[in-house]
Amino acid sequence: MSREPRIALYPGSFDPLTNGHVDIIQRGARLFDRIIVAILMNREKTPLFTAVERVDIAREVFANEPNVEIDTFGGLLVEYARRREASVIVRGLRAVSDFEYEMQMALMNRHLSPDLETVFMMPGEAYTYLSSRLVKEVFALGASVAGLVPPAVERRLLVKR
Ligand code: ADP
Repeated sequence: MSREPRIALYPGSFDPLTNGHVDIIQRGARLFDRIIVAILMNREKTPLFTAVERVDIAREVFANEPNVEIDTFGGLLVEYARRREASVIVRGLRAVSDFEYEMQMALMNRHLSPDLETVFMMPGEAYTYLSSRLVKEVFALGASVAGLVPPAVERRLLVKR
């Protein structure tokens, strides 16, 4: 029986993309027909990487994964999901501390768009302590971020130094 392709959105800032994000995207790519990594534009006034740079990085990292698409979005996530015909939002859950914010957002998105389902996935345990914010701090303090981010991010960070 044929069915509509199941399209998932993975929204976030990805400033920068970490190995925790990559882990979640790979899990999503195995579960759904397509996963769109949706890079939120213009939330932070001074991002480390511009939206264009973040798109370039993610496209490089997932160049060999045909069901991973990279896009940018602004405004209401549920509107963007409707436009992209996505039926699922993917979010990563690292620790209990993520839970409250994520639950509020999931329920608000359900209120706005009842058919859009939010799916939470846990990363491999090596990534549970990893966040873009910590990567930025570690890098700013001069330490190596090898193993925390894909090589494409590490390379671009070193250029910025
Ligand atoms: P946001 O600014 O919306 O939190 P992020 O890019 O930081 O965007 O994160 C996007 C999503 O990825 C969120 O669901 C977040 O919980 C999840 N995430 C971030 N880091 C990790 C990680 N190390 N492991 C699993 N999920 C993660």
